[in-house]
Amino acid sequence: MALLTVLTDDHPTLRLKSQPIERINKEIKHLSNDMVETMRAYHGVGLAAPQVGVSKRLIVLESRKNPRYPEAPVFPLIVIVNPVYQPLGQKKEEGEEGCLSVPGWYGPVARYCGIKASGLDIKGKPLQLTLDGFAARVFQHEVDHLDGILFTDYIDDPTKLAYYPPPAHET
Ligand code: ZN
Repeated sequence: MALLTVLTDDHPTLRLKSQPIERINKEIKHLSNDMVETMRAYHGVGLAAPQVGVSKRLIVLESRKNPRYPEAPVFPLIVIVNPVYQPLGQKKEEGEEGCLSVPGWYGPVARYCGIKASGLDIKGKPLQLTLDGFAARVFQHEVDHLDGILFTDYIDDPTKLAYYPPPAHET
């Protein structure tokens, strides 16, 4: 396993539409392990493959108690290939988001409160999850990365963005 470099700001790969994964080979399994390690080291709650320079539809998410999100609810590790979701109802909720690719910046984004998420697990088996609250928010944020969207795209008033210096990551 290895720590990967997280692309930031205006790197062009962050703006591409990622390709579906047709075969979950050794390379993809390896990538998913490295993404989990990188997400944990940087105290992220999610990471999408384009953020580490791979324009493919793979995301990982997990929330543990950590200094970057001390108040965040916890949820277990999800590794999902070709993720999609459908909203459960039209209700959206505004909540504060940040992103390892936009280091230090936080701002409010409205997301669906509940979603039905699906895709493949890392063994290629169909995976279906019903997510709500924080986990649903993170899932929607990560799927956006696969379509070249950053959370800051939703914030039209720059005064709503706040800057907090990111904590040092564990190496
Ligand atoms: Zn992000």
